Order: sequence, then C-alpha cells, then structure tokens
Amino acid sequence: MNETQLQKSLILITVDCLRADHCGFHGYSRPTTPFLDSLAEESFVVPTTVVAGAPTFFSFPSILASRMPLALGRDVIGLAPGENTLALFLRDLGYATAAFSAANPYLSPHFGYDSGFDTFKDFLDFVKPPAQSAPAPSPSFAKNRGKLNRSLRGAAGRFGIGKVYDELYFQYCVRIASPSVGNIDSLREFPNAEVIVDHAISWLASATKRPFFLWLHLMDAHSPYYPSQQAFRDLTGRTVSSTNARYLNEFWKRSDLAPGDFEQKKTAIVELYDAGIRSIDSHVERLVTHLKQKNLWNSCTFVLTADHGESFLEHGRRFHSPLSLSEEIVHVPLMIRVPSIAKRIVSDAPFSHLHLAPTLLEILDLKPPECFTGVSLWRHLQQQQPWDLNAITECVYGCTNPFRAQDRMGTRLLSVRDLRHKLVMRLDSGTSEEFFDLVADPQEMFPLQHGVQNQDRKKLSRAALDHLSQTASSENLSLRLKDRLREILVKLNTAP
Ligand SMILES: [Zn+2]
Repeated sequence: MNETQLQKSLILITVDCLRADHCGFHGYSRPTTPFLDSLAEESFVVPTTVVAGAPTFFSFPSILASRMPLALGRDVIGLAPGENTLALFLRDLGYATAAFSAANPYLSPHFGYDSGFDTFKDFLDFVKPPAQSAPAPSPSFAKNRGKLNRSLRGAAGRFGIGKVYDELYFQYCVRIASPSVGNIDSLREFPNAEVIVDHAISWLASATKRPFFLWLHLMDAHSPYYPSQQAFRDLTGRTVSSTNARYLNEFWKRSDLAPGDFEQKKTAIVELYDAGIRSIDSHVERLVTHLKQKNLWNSCTFVLTADHGESFLEHGRRFHSPLSLSEEIVHVPLMIRVPSIAKRIVSDAPFSHLHLAPTLLEILDLKPPECFTGVSLWRHLQQQQPWDLNAITECVYGCTNPFRAQDRMGTRLLSVRDLRHKLVMRLDSGTSEEFFDLVADPQEMFPLQHGVQNQDRKKLSRAALDHLSQTASSENLSLRLKDRLREILVKLNTAP
C-alpha cells in the first residue's frame, strides 16, 4: 500500500463512557491524554459535541447511521437490517472495512453492528486471564454464612449500628471471603486497548490497496475500572494495588448506600477511570505510530469520540444508566484530524452526533446517502463559521436492559440544547420539564422557573415538538418489520 492509493481512508475510534471534561484537549487538568493533546494541535476539536442518545444502545445509531435512536420506534434497538450506515455505504464504494469492538454486548451482530464490515470482531468470547484465586467455599458454608449474617444484621439494627455492621460485612466479603486477587489484568472484564489495537495493526497488514474504514470501540474507561498498571503509574506516579482496586470497584457498585456515602471513595475511583483513559491514549499513539511507519497516516482521516459520558456522583448518580441527560452523560469529546488541513478554531455551538457521519463523508469527498438525517458541517468547520442547530438527545428512561421489550416501552426522556440553554423533558402521562441556563449554571443544579428566559424556553420547546412530530410521521415501517423478523429468526435459531 502507499499513500496515493489510500487517499481517503477513515479511522473512527469510539471510547465507551469517555466524558469530554476528562480529556486534556477539552481542558482537563490531569494528564489523561498527552498524545491526543499533541494530536489536537493538528486537528479540529469540537468543544460542544452532544450524543443523540445514551447509553450505548441509544447512541450508536446516530454515530454510524446518522439516525435518532427512537426514530424507528421502540422495537429497533441498534441498527435495522438493511439500514444504510457509514460502513455499508463505504464498502459499497469499494472500501475495505473492519471493526474491532472490545466486548460491548450491545455492539454485536445481534443488533446489526456487523453490517457493512468485511471483518467484524466483537470479542464477546473474551476470556479473562486466570486469576490466582483461592478455592471457592462449599455451598453449605456459603449458606450458613448467609444465615449467620442475617441474624447478626438483625441484631445490629436493633442496637442502632446497622450501618456499621453493613460496612464491616462488606469489608469481610471483599477483603477476606472473596477469592484472592492476582494482578490487576486478571480483574478486567473487557479486552483493553492494547488487545484491540493489536488486532487493528494485524488487520492493516492484511488490508489490500483499497482505501479502508477502520472502527475501533474501546472499553478501558467503562466500569469496572481496572486500568493497566503502566497507565496508572504514568498518570499518578504510583502503582495500584489490585486488592484495593477490586475493593473500590465493589464498593462503587453497592446498592445499599445513600449517594453521600460514596463521596469518600470518589477521588480514588476517578483516578482508576482516568488511568483507563491514559491507557487508551498510549495505545492510540501506538496505532498512529504504526500508521506513520507504514506511510498510511497522511491518507487517513482520524476521528475520536465517545458514545456517552459517565457520572461520578453529579446529581447523586454513578455509571451511565438512562436516568438523566445531564452534561456528564451527553457531552463527549470529538477530535477530527484531516490530513494536510491545519487545526482551526471551532465554534462552541452544539454539534450533535447526528451530523458526524455526513460530515465525515464530505471530508472524504463523498455525498452522504439521503437516508442520513444529519447534515454535513464540514464547510462550517473549515471556514470557522458557527452553525445554528440544536442538539437533541433522547432515550427511554430507566431502560437498562433493552433485551426486555417492556423496558423499551417506558417514558421517553428528551433534551434539546442550544448554545446556552437546555430543555429536558420527560414524556410520560403528564409531560414534565426542566430548563437550564448552562452558562450561569453549568452543573444543572437550578432549573429556571417558568417565565424566566421564556423566549429561549419556547424556542427549544418548539424544536422538541418538531422532532417528535417528525419521528411520528417518518417511522420506517419496512426497516421495523425487518428488525422484527430478525428477532424472530434469532429466537427460532436459539430455541432448545
Ligand atoms: Zn457505552
């Protein structure tokens, strides 16, 4: 391969759970992204990128197919069979296509994500390295221990020390009764960026002389947070104890504590999360170094973004369940590096992921397919012009498991954001809404009362209504039907 033969290649890296405000190139003070920060010097960094849905399964239809997550109704989770996507579109034009996704179960062929990829590896068969574990206790021991615990908990509650007892019992379970921990790599639940980048590099060696589209999805910033020892050391100058990392992760997912009880561990947990980002940074550097060595880098448009952010007790929440569309969940990084085009200052107008695929295609000198509902903002980026578009985000409130049909039928949560304001609506039997001035209140703590900045509220309300009426009138029944058929087929094939 040489550069002239691959003038139009595209690399898309999506990082699960990566908040914009934890990236150096978006202003974070901790050195999570030293390589990406240097790359930002020759890239377009879009300051206000907003996902079209969250979490993963409500976000990716916009990234890969420029389509709002609920536009095809509640039946379709992921991509519908036959739906046009970046990968399908580019493959039809002769691109070599490959995707390596770090075992996110929602980015699988079951949800249509292999569509358009010649090579698709989702690592769902990922097997953790064996831990140096102690033998598990016998079932009868575990049963008696549970019985004893219930009796002691009851007694502690009567003496008013139930909380102290809960903590002691938790410490006992994690530090004493659980299997002993090997190194931190043995605790990881997803292949890390090192594995994914290794596969990408191998694939690049086998790629033909055609231009290529390579998509990598990385899970190093996803919980449980188990960074590599190297990345933790690079970030903090210290080593991390795997026993302590396990304790912190087990503590962080407890369901028996009030939000305030988690504050004491927040700094340590964020440190683990940040080290995961640092790990990604170093392996992206490795990929870019490889592309440079192979004389491919200057023919590649390189894009890095995230499917959603992560909560660290903002509004009392952890992780990224679809319970809120606050900024820590919807504001993600976006870096676009285009060969031989120098860095430009980019407007801080909201850039919805809906516009990402059309923009990328225009960068590649291609006309986006008509079914993509976003628009290309490439001209605005190049000419340093602002755009006057709202960013809409939607999801189904509380839908943490889209495999359950009833979960998908819940309340629609919708937000509309312009340069300064954000309207968040819950559309259940009675619509409720909150309206924020993000300049005066970036943490979204103080919803404005009705009547305050009312013209702006009305403008965003109209945008929300337009979006909803468009969705109602444009549901593509053919794609929905194909999706239903796929689901029935999967059930038939997996039935005992
Ligand atoms: Zn995700």
